[in-house]
Amino acid sequence: MTSTLPESVKADAQRWFAEYWDPDLPLGQWWQLLADSGWAFPSWPEGFGGRGLSSAATKAAVQARREAGAFGPPNGVATFLAAPTIMHYGTEEQKRKYIPKIVNGQEIWCQLFSEPGAGSDMAGLATKAIRDGDEWIVNGQKVWNSGAQWAQYGILIARTDPQQPKHRGITYFLIDMEQDGVDVRPLKEMTGDAAFNEVFLNDARVAESDRLGDLGDGWRVAMTTLSHERDPDNAGMGDTAAFGEIDLAESVGEYSATLSSKNDGFSLALSGGVTRVLEGVTSQFEASEDPKVRQKLASILEMRRTSRWSGMRAAAKIKSGGQPGPEVSTLKLLGSEMGRQIRDVGLESMGAHGMLYGQDAPVDGLFHAYSMFTPAQSIAGGSDEVQRNIIGERVLGLPREPGEKEQRELPWSELPRS
Ligand SMILES: Cc1cc2nc3c(=O)[nH]c(=O)nc-3n(C[C@H](O)[C@H](O)[C@H](O)COP(=O)(O)OP(=O)(O)OC[C@H]3O[C@@H](n4cnc5c(N)ncnc54)[C@H](O)[C@@H]3O)c2cc1C
Repeated sequence: MTSTLPESVKADAQRWFAEYWDPDLPLGQWWQLLADSGWAFPSWPEGFGGRGLSSAATKAAVQARREAGAFGPPNGVATFLAAPTIMHYGTEEQKRKYIPKIVNGQEIWCQLFSEPGAGSDMAGLATKAIRDGDEWIVNGQKVWNSGAQWAQYGILIARTDPQQPKHRGITYFLIDMEQDGVDVRPLKEMTGDAAFNEVFLNDARVAESDRLGDLGDGWRVAMTTLSHERDPDNAGMGDTAAFGEIDLAESVGEYSATLSSKNDGFSLALSGGVTRVLEGVTSQFEASEDPKVRQKLASILEMRRTSRWSGMRAAAKIKSGGQPGPEVSTLKLLGSEMGRQIRDVGLESMGAHGMLYGQDAPVDGLFHAYSMFTPAQSIAGGSDEVQRNIIGERVLGLPREPGEKEQRELPWSELPRS
């Protein structure tokens, strides 16, 4: 039996990467090799791109890959939200149908949760799914759906019983995005990119066999999805955010070079590569010796350490089959605060160059693209205010928001709506 101690896992991984890593391979072939070997997502089960390894052993394996300079597995909504949720709640058939094409990067997924009238109050969602024989007919509007313009599938929550209280009448589905009833319209952001979309569902169809979890249990399934958003064993596993068109026939080397040259703040925030860019900026402008800059860098480092600790606690709970609690909110808050501090210290270090934008700006405008994206970090995945509410109520024991308890009991159809 092979040892799962981190040192021997690292040695195994090093041997494997030394033998197989080749930047001239087509991207699709490399991702398939990674998935088949289990080095793609080492903490995931065998047969699904992983080896069922512990957090520590996973870290050792990822380190071995990075030291070998080998390109990572696909990374995006498919890998950090859809796949873990399908593995948790899916039937064997659903797992076999969807996971293999997620781990080898063939299929891109998006998340269809938020609505124009239901963001922070996600449980108030109005998109309806009505049963029709072996299928469900879905009608409604979703919004802020990252990568939906490129997605083949979506994880969707919809109301299946308006007579139940708002958290109870929701069901979770896996929906085919490439059908006539799904209309995706990109939204342009202040960064200049259109990473997210609004999605109109007009008599869209979902097979009953693509319902994930029990009827009316969608809220619980959705909470599992959101808890994985910050699982450190998943997030940042790939060196890339899988947004945009992906050509699996292109060589890994070419694809990786295109990604590194992309001025995309969203990808940089997701891949966690921004601290490397910040180091480059502070040394280019000789700011690393400035006591004020050093103080801020120390504070960022401190937050990184704390967030790693909270992340490990959350990951341990997920692994033991539980739901992580308020530590996920702490992680989320630390993430947005770090983003703001990184932005400020980087722009201050540049002096007047901080006012430039695009190709004229230092480091090809990459840091500026990230700076424009930072406000999004305190909104995406639940706003900072909402995370503070959770910490206030669940950690500090503060009273719940006025009227919330009553609203939880009333049928959704009787709730006041604007
Ligand atoms: C970059 C990015 C990517 C995203 N990707 C996706 C995606 O792929 N799929 C998806 O479904 N969604 C996605 N979202 C949407 C995101 O989940 C929502 O924007 C978020 O939940 C907030 O909802 P909202 O925008 O409707 O704001 P609202 O809920 O309308 O909030 C508006 C303001 O009111 C505050 N507020 C609301 N309720 C309270 C309260 N109870 N107490 C105190 N303050 C409150 C909020 O903090 C916020 O400042 C994305 C968002 C961003 C920014």
